[in-house]
This record gives sequence, C-alpha cells and structure tokens, in this order.
Amino acid sequence: RALRFQIPTAKLFTKSQRFASTLTFIETSKDGNLVSSSLNALTAAAQLGNPIHAVILGSHASTAANILKSSVQCEKLTKILVSDNIGFDHYLPEKVAPLFAHLLKNDEYSHFVSASSTVGKTNLPRLGALLDLQPINDIIKILDSRTFSRPIYAGNAIATVQCSQPKKLISIRASAFEPITQGSTDSAVIEEIQQIEPETFIDVKWEGETLMKSERPELGSASRVVTGGRALKDKETFEKILVPLADVLNAGIGATRAAVDNGFCDNSLQVGQTGKVVAPDLYVAIGVSGAIQHLAGMKDSKVIVAINNDPEAPVFKVADYSLEGDAYEVVPELVRRLKEM
Ligand code: FAD
Repeated sequence: RALRFQIPTAKLFTKSQRFASTLTFIETSKDGNLVSSSLNALTAAAQLGNPIHAVILGSHASTAANILKSSVQCEKLTKILVSDNIGFDHYLPEKVAPLFAHLLKNDEYSHFVSASSTVGKTNLPRLGALLDLQPINDIIKILDSRTFSRPIYAGNAIATVQCSQPKKLISIRASAFEPITQGSTDSAVIEEIQQIEPETFIDVKWEGETLMKSERPELGSASRVVTGGRALKDKETFEKILVPLADVLNAGIGATRAAVDNGFCDNSLQVGQTGKVVAPDLYVAIGVSGAIQHLAGMKDSKVIVAINNDPEAPVFKVADYSLEGDAYEVVPELVRRLKEM
C-alpha cells in the first residue's frame, strides 16, 4: 500500500540557486566517537549523488572529523565542517538548529540529512520551523533527489513523498541504510565553521543527566535482541528469563509496552511504534503477542524467532522460527543447549 504526498514549494529561497551539495549531520558520542547511525546517514547522503559536507559539533568535533576521514570511504565527502565550541555539546536543539539554519541559508545546499536518532528527531522540527520548510522524517528509501519513501500508520503503509521545496530536510531510519563503507577519505578537507556563538541564540542551559550504565549491547545498535513481553509476569521473572539468554547470545534486551507499563524494566527498552525501532540480525520475542504497535518496531529484523504458548499468536505470522511452548521451560532449555555449543 503506497500513498503519495506532495509537499508544496516554500517561498523562502528566491535568489538564483546553485544547489549542489548535501549537508550531513554527524553525531558523536560523549567520548568523541562517531555515532553509528550517522554512518548510515552518510550512506543515504551519498545516494543523493551530490558532494557531501559533513558537519560535526561540540568539544570533540575536530578529533571526530579526523576519525571520520580515516575510517570511512566516501568519495562524495569533500568537506567536514567543524565547530569545537563546547556550547554545542549535548546537541541542545535551541543551539544546534539555529547553526544548521545558518549554514543552510547558503545556496550551495539542496539537502540536509541526519539520522532519525533522538538528537535528529529533536533538531529537525526546530530547523524546519526556522527555515519555514517541512522536514521529511524517518525515510527508508531514496527514490530520487526529491522523492522518498517513509513508513506511516505504524509501518502499515509506505508513503511516497515528493518534495518540491528548494531544500529538503531529511531524517533517515538508520536500519534501512547500510553504514558507509569503511576505509579512508583523504581528500575531504576539514574546515572550521565561522559562525555566531551558540550562546547568542537562546538562553538555555544543560543541567545534567543520569545515565544508565550497562555492559550489554545497546538496544538500538545491537546485532541481536532478546525481547520479553507481558508473559514474564514481573521484574524479577523478566530478568531471570531474559538475562541468561541475552548473555549467551551477547544480545541487547528489549521489551513490549505491556512489560514496560507493568514495571518489568525501564521504558528505554521498549520496542515498537512508541518505543525504539530495531532491525537486528536476530530478534527473539518471548511471551510477546505481536500487536501491530510492537511489530512496527521490529518486523524488519533479519531473523525473527518467536516463543509463545499460543499457536494463534500474531507474532508467529512474522516469525522465521516459531517455537510453540511455555517460555519458562523453553528459554532455560535453549540457554542450556546454546552453552553446550
Ligand atoms: P500481550 O499482548 O498480553 O501478549 C502476551 C503474550 O504472551 C500472549 O501472546 C500469550 O500467548 C503469551 N504468553 C503468555 N504466557 C506465556 C508463557 N508462559 N510462555 C510463552 N508465551 C506466553 N506495544 C509495544 O510493544 N510497543 C509499542 O511501542 C507500543 N506502542 C503503542 C502505541 C499505541 C498508541 C497503542 C494503543 C498501543 C501500543 N502498544 C505498544 C501496545 C500494544 O498494542 C500491545 O498491547 C502490547 O504490545 C502487548 O504486549 P505483550 O505482547 O507483551 O502482551
């Protein structure tokens, strides 16, 4: 089911335009490493066919720019714009979006691409408002430089969006694009952004954060995910059943909304329409019915294994391997067998 939408031309850019380049936001983690979803965003940017200028912000920007140059092979990447200004740390949208808007007023840029990460999602609407442009979120395919596919209705339909605005603001669903090829791009020049101080934009201050620390692979980027549903009764049982399997598979842990709402785990583990969208190599759903809102977050996983005691459970319709049985017996047995391998 495909729907077509047209986004009208905005009146903002009336000068003669020399649109040619794509500005791509590359996020870094707190320790200055490149965030993996940004490498998928770079692939999407390369598919647009234009030269790419990456933009990296915050106190690690210059280091990250060098990491980018020496770790990705992307011939379209011609320039890396950096600002080491500490004011850009934490990517507060009130500071970052005005900078992007400032850069995008340059006629050189026809597209802005970022990952549909938490940072991407918080920045893009503000950027759209600043430039009076409609962003196109969470795209899964680039059909041509102005036509994109994106899921709607919790992934039950794919909309084809054709955008006639002079500049396209796009966020990409990372799981729909491969990370850019590894290698090096020696030809890309690193350039300091000459711009207004972020402090002059809006008076907003980063107060602090409380981070949950875990040795386990992060749900959003894990290649294997083990998810538990309401069947796992309570927090203690949830952990008792899931953790040994996640350990043996070196998997991230996910949960349904029912599991989160019942307090089995933190809501950062929720997978689905109102949680995280994941597409790991292996997704094991345990005691999960397979409601459409949950499927919206995991149905693109490469291999889906479902363990459920109800043969009619909808999750079996999307599963590659269906294990009908009691999770309390099946999962410990599975762990035992995997340990023997
Ligand atoms: P249930 O539907 O209750 O399923 C439990 C399953 O466990 C059943 O299939 C049962 O057969 C099986 N089971 C029971 N005992 C055992 C056993 N011993 N061994 C094996 N199997 C067993 N849900 C999400 O997950 N993510 C979302 O992002 C999300 N967003 C939503 C947004 C909206 C607007 C709405 C309205 C709903 C949303 N939901 C979301 C909720 C969703 O509709 C379902 O209610 C939820 O996914 C059900 O979770 P569950 O599969 O754990 O529970």
